[in-house]
Amino acid sequence: MILIRGGSVFSASTSSKGGFEVKDVLIDGDRIAAVGRVHVDEVSDVVDASGCLVGPGFVDMHTHLREPGHTWKEDIASGSAAAAAGGFTAVVAMPNTDPPIDEANIVEEVIRRGAEVGLVEVSVAGAMTQGRAGVVPSDIEGLYECGVRIFTDDGDCVEDVDVLLSVMMRIAALPGAVVSQHAEDAAMTVDGHMHEGSMSARLDVGGLPAEAEIEVVGRDLDLVRETGASYHCQHVSAAGTVELIRHAKAEGLPITAEVTPHHLSFDDTSLADLDTDFKMYPPLRSGDDRRVLREALNDGTIDVVATDHAPHLPEEKSTLFGEAPRGVIGLETAAAVVSGVVDDPARMFQSLSLNPASIASLKDQGRPIAVGERANIVVFDPRHEWTPDRFVSRSSNSPYKGHPLKGRPLLTVHNGRIVYSLVGAA
Ligand SMILES: [Zn+2]
Repeated sequence: MILIRGGSVFSASTSSKGGFEVKDVLIDGDRIAAVGRVHVDEVSDVVDASGCLVGPGFVDMHTHLREPGHTWKEDIASGSAAAAAGGFTAVVAMPNTDPPIDEANIVEEVIRRGAEVGLVEVSVAGAMTQGRAGVVPSDIEGLYECGVRIFTDDGDCVEDVDVLLSVMMRIAALPGAVVSQHAEDAAMTVDGHMHEGSMSARLDVGGLPAEAEIEVVGRDLDLVRETGASYHCQHVSAAGTVELIRHAKAEGLPITAEVTPHHLSFDDTSLADLDTDFKMYPPLRSGDDRRVLREALNDGTIDVVATDHAPHLPEEKSTLFGEAPRGVIGLETAAAVVSGVVDDPARMFQSLSLNPASIASLKDQGRPIAVGERANIVVFDPRHEWTPDRFVSRSSNSPYKGHPLKGRPLLTVHNGRIVYSLVGAA
């Protein structure tokens, strides 16, 4: 048994937003056995959670685990360990692997491997098109049968309207299934490596215009109106996209959206010395875009914070900015960033747990801290000050290296088992 004593326990049931109350939480086996003032004689682990937030484990609906195919960057075991260290109890693995996750047998293999590692729940997003080539829809129904709910060609945008329309019509017929689009018009982003603006002009680096994202989302919203398919907008980076999402939600369309921690923390002025650990797609945009993203998270226009954890080795990143692979890791630093950005800590659990669990249809995640529920729990210390320097992830391409952060998971419990503890980890 594990006793988490005296933490501020998140309760989402008292209001739509959720609040906190100081309570003990007792875990027996894989379930929550008691919540409140708990007195027990025999407990194997007692965790002092005073001053900490206790809530449902975080869920990352946008993780690149790199397995199969790119396991020198990360694999299911190292990615799961990094997730647990970040307070996550579930991740949704993106399908841009080698081979891509576009068939049932690959989905089953990744899920089987994730369960074998057993540190976090590993769920899988399936490719929308065969080989992620954007041409022929994948076996949507077959992937759905083996548990896939999120369909995406992430890393690439599905641009062909006819292909996307046919995929969305099929997804609309499957309860809980959602199209998750990497919105980026390839024709507008040829030779671009950073946000197109005054910084890219000054540095003489090819620009990636915000319109490349905004125009794809605008077009896709017409397909949502036509098909009724649920649509999730990945890694929103531009203020104009936020505006489209705001209007689409007001219109009642089945739209959700995510933002990454790095788009909440940084803007394109961080690229002054062209550090490749700040290179990702979509790129860091202007300070105004960043401000709008923060507001949109806090007013609920953006539902989810998702890491887009994208590991690359130092030798891959140590090259010219234009040639470096895109992407940064994020699992271990995400909660600290969100904690520092939200107006209310309840928003952290909404955006990092409840909302992504709901969108990804993960029934044992994002659940209330209540008797009988599966024990997927994070204990988060909002006071802990630290500066990331080394990582559990196999890769270390983090823009937060050497960047002081406040807030850190103290304990992660997955299926009733302690899978991460900051006190043993340091
Ligand atoms: Zn993407």
